[in-house]
Amino acid sequence: MKTQYQTSESTRIPPRVADHYWQATLHRDTRADGLFVFAVRSTRVYCRPSCPARRPLRRNTLFFRKPQDAEIQGFRACRRCRPKNIDESTVLVQQVATALASSPDEAVRLGPLAAQMHVSQGRLRRAFRRVTGLSPKDFEQALRLKRFKNMLREGSSITEALYTCGYGSSSRLYEKADAQLGMTPASYKKGGQGMEIGYAIANTSLGKVLVGSTERGVSAVYLGENERTLIEELKQEYPKAQIVRAAREHESWVEEIVRRVEGRAPSAELPLDVQATAFQRRVWKELQKIARGTTRTYTQVANALGEPRAARAVARACASNPVSIVVPCHRVIRGDSSLAGYRWGLQRKQKLLEREAVPVGSTC
Ligand SMILES: [Zn+2]
Repeated sequence: MKTQYQTSESTRIPPRVADHYWQATLHRDTRADGLFVFAVRSTRVYCRPSCPARRPLRRNTLFFRKPQDAEIQGFRACRRCRPKNIDESTVLVQQVATALASSPDEAVRLGPLAAQMHVSQGRLRRAFRRVTGLSPKDFEQALRLKRFKNMLREGSSITEALYTCGYGSSSRLYEKADAQLGMTPASYKKGGQGMEIGYAIANTSLGKVLVGSTERGVSAVYLGENERTLIEELKQEYPKAQIVRAAREHESWVEEIVRRVEGRAPSAELPLDVQATAFQRRVWKELQKIARGTTRTYTQVANALGEPRAARAVARACASNPVSIVVPCHRVIRGDSSLAGYRWGLQRKQKLLEREAVPVGSTC
């Protein structure tokens, strides 16, 4: 791999940053892929943060900013998550996001930024064009936006921040970006061609929940009574995907989803890996902002997207949400406060909302 930029001090990670990396590792946060790798002393293997393998003990874990640094120390790349296969441009954009988020200047210019990354301005522009789909001019404008920088500081990925600030409104943004988006881009053809989905089924007080996932994130969350029907639905939604019973590697995702079905507060972030149009993605992201215990109407969601006339399209995007619970489409109701529809049954929608609502008379 040819690397033109350098971070010479990269082998020394300050303890506070290491804590942060450890959290990302525990949560298998795909957005941290490319930002660092973690190496395991006992196995001499290093992985990307989202590696599905079992987590090592913290005391056996070392962090490196780049795969090369781990290799110099005698670690070899994990064959499962292939930490070296993260695209160089994505790594560069990740590093820029980190640098921007920690820089005190509100306005940043391309030249100094490129110098800081030890790359030419041209290379930085090309990396941005590839990863975010933005023209160099749009990117330079974005760099001057205070809001953009604030978003990065709050932990948004750079592509997410750019998108929210109104850049790259075409679907290209999502198609080009790599896995650092909380919701990973659609690298799949229609019907889930090229996807390998493992499914697990768990019992909840609302019936059975099917959780389908790829190695990158959760692709399906279905609710129902009958196991076979749920699997059938999964096959219908992803007719071209390879669908198998899941190995145990994503049990923590299933546990987290069951927890949310039972109305408890989220305890971990869940990476998503779904196929979607740019509009569906925007709607689903917006739904993820609806706080637990609250609801929005379709019109409110449309307004929040800056498309006040798109309430019906919003309703359709809600109805086609493949990852119920994680994208809480049950929190969207009609303007007259009626529940409207729910793919998994109105009764379930009602119960989910009841569970999430703060109990009347509660003191906390
Ligand atoms: Zn790995």
